[in-house]
Amino acid sequence: MADPVSELDPLAANVTGARHALLRFGTQRAASLSRSPRNANPEFPLRTNGVSPEDSLQFLKGVGPERAKRLARLGLVTIEDLLWHLPKGYLDRSRIVPIRQLVPGAEHTTLVEVTRQHLSGGRGRIALLEVHLRDASGEASAIFFGQAFLAKVLLPGTRLLLHGKVKWRVETHGRLAAGGLQFQNPEYEVLGADGVEGALQGGRVVPVYALTAGVSQKMLRVYVRHALDAVGPRLIDPLPASMRERLALTPLRDAFERVHYPERAEDAEPARDRLAFDEFLALQLAFGTARRLRGEASPRRSPASPRFPAGSLAEAFRRVLPFQLTAGQERVWSEIAADLALPRPMNRLLQGDVGSGKTAVAALACLTAIEGGQQAAYLAPTEILAEQQARNLSRWFGPLGLNVELLLGRSSGRERRVLLSALEAGEIDLLVGTHALLESAVEWKDLGLIVVDEQHRFGVMQRARLREKGGAPHCLVMSATPIPRSLAMTLYGDLDLSVLDEMPPGRLPPETRLVPPEKRDDMLRWIAAHAHEGARAYIVYPLVEESELLDLKAATEAAEELRAHPDFRDLEIGLLLGRMDGEEKQRVLDRFRGGQCAVLVSTTVIEVGVDVPEATVMVVEHPERFGLAQLHQLRGRVGRGGGASHFLLSLSGRVGRTSLERLKILLRESSGFRVAEADLRLRGPGEILGTAQHGLPPLRVADLTHDQRWLFLAHEEANRLAAQDPRLIQPEHHELRRWVDRLFAHRLPLSRVG
Ligand code: ADP
Ligand code: MG
Repeated sequence: MADPVSELDPLAANVTGARHALLRFGTQRAASLSRSPRNANPEFPLRTNGVSPEDSLQFLKGVGPERAKRLARLGLVTIEDLLWHLPKGYLDRSRIVPIRQLVPGAEHTTLVEVTRQHLSGGRGRIALLEVHLRDASGEASAIFFGQAFLAKVLLPGTRLLLHGKVKWRVETHGRLAAGGLQFQNPEYEVLGADGVEGALQGGRVVPVYALTAGVSQKMLRVYVRHALDAVGPRLIDPLPASMRERLALTPLRDAFERVHYPERAEDAEPARDRLAFDEFLALQLAFGTARRLRGEASPRRSPASPRFPAGSLAEAFRRVLPFQLTAGQERVWSEIAADLALPRPMNRLLQGDVGSGKTAVAALACLTAIEGGQQAAYLAPTEILAEQQARNLSRWFGPLGLNVELLLGRSSGRERRVLLSALEAGEIDLLVGTHALLESAVEWKDLGLIVVDEQHRFGVMQRARLREKGGAPHCLVMSATPIPRSLAMTLYGDLDLSVLDEMPPGRLPPETRLVPPEKRDDMLRWIAAHAHEGARAYIVYPLVEESELLDLKAATEAAEELRAHPDFRDLEIGLLLGRMDGEEKQRVLDRFRGGQCAVLVSTTVIEVGVDVPEATVMVVEHPERFGLAQLHQLRGRVGRGGGASHFLLSLSGRVGRTSLERLKILLRESSGFRVAEADLRLRGPGEILGTAQHGLPPLRVADLTHDQRWLFLAHEEANRLAAQDPRLIQPEHHELRRWVDRLFAHRLPLSRVG
């Protein structure tokens, strides 16, 4: 990456890097290939000298350039890659059944000798090869269609393993003895000198791999065997022996051996775990390095001069606040405060469920920067949210004599010029805004802290741009997308993490219900009755990008429907759409906030951070189209003022069983983190995060859902190593460092350090 900012911003490295990781991995390997004299010249004594794990697969026995190309489609480029291509399952073919015990219709593995063969067809007809077989117990036959070449392979006297179903022999055009059991197009394996001992396709537990066109199970089993034989003895275990012993991990070579060719299927599991652990460990170590790089490469510029005695603003702020911070808020604040006191820039993720009170914590951080004589930026993803937070923050900061301003994309003309020059002169303490803050015309006197609210809504580059603005400002990113801890550690492992897992007192979780189509009208009448008593309700049409127009239409029609509904006659129905301009949105929302408008029909624009404490009812239409995390976010918009509140999932038609199962999680769980855990189990990480921010590093073996134990263990071990030998320069860590480099060098270059 040429851009120095994204290089230093671990988040940038994380997300953009990961998306291109496979690609870059590929080119990097290609480059190293062409540099290597051995590979540049295939005549070089390669086969006699053997191959090494990092060599191209084309040099593995039996592969060659053509098949190497096919294997590359599976992401398999080097011999080592092939070892990491773990089976997706196993077949137990260890039981060899004598011919006499074969049962028609069942799958069997049998060991036979070819006695006779007959080839017919050809010349425009499909070739039909019929072979006669025997073992000590009896006789059988097999037919192969369209594989004339087999006539040269399955010669009389050949010993074979066959796998497949047998049938009573049908009368075909075959000419061999009639009757008996017959295999049709079975899998076969010609046995070599070491007989069944050396068999790869049967007579044992055999691996089953993910395939691609032109690559068969059979081929992969053979190639993997060749790879194990060729490079196994040269594999160097990257884990220090002491760690391996302490954690009782299978040594690397054994792990590969057992995961591909286990004696019993259950032997594969500890072997696979060991490899998952390696992957997690490398990732955690790479993240640790990114964190350290951040500290070393960009020491913070110290603030010009403190404007207030340390802690005085925070103290005054606490007096202004209409509530006391919860213990959870105090805890995450102390973590943040400790970071702010360090000479390196903070890069911390504050995760807290919707409504947990992250704004107040961010406010304390802003005050610390301001006290020290610097400025703070508060970046919000939407104009609505920016305006709301500017209002909150100036209500809190105004009494302290601080200057809070708001900058939106629509600010223009003189007003904007005045604001920008005040900012440059240092007269503005806190500037709240949307991505308008990122424009190059926006210059700060001394930017000390950036708060990024609802960070998942921002592109990585936008964050990086803001960081460019100051001398390595502290950065606090906040998210209410409840990412399970395991995901956060993988996705944001290079950020320090604070978790706010406590709600302000007196909050009752909204009562969540599914409303079937036939109950919809009852529901509407019930809402009208509530609204007449002063309650405020949202009706949300979740916006799916592909169907934007449809959803807009649906929301608009729903507003009309309510306006025409007799029960809603004397109620004001607001309509809020994402495509409205900022001022119009604000007007609509203000009427809802102020209570003139009782029912707000909206597309998902309201999802992000809107705080109307009086809203107690939310209806979501088409809930099945949405991720649970998003629904949970929506749910967080009601019941903020204490008291009972309702979250109604309105089902419009037939909803599939799995969708229904998913929605029911929301009825059971009120914690965002638990909702996300459940969603992770059901749908996997990519789905939760959405493609837009699917910045997951390419893990080949480790699985976030099932291997959490290993992730946490790897995290601990990485910390232990960081304390002991952070640069991995001790000799026993040399291989570990090489391994981390190989896996993640293209993202987080370890070799640049030290
Ligand atoms: P989020 O974490 O979703 O950004 P907010 O910061 O918007 O949450 O806070 C949600 C609501 O809770 C706000 O109305 C806020 O004033 C209120 N709040 C925050 N902290 C407390 C607290 N300690 N006690 C009572 N109310 C609080
Ligand atoms: Mg918020």
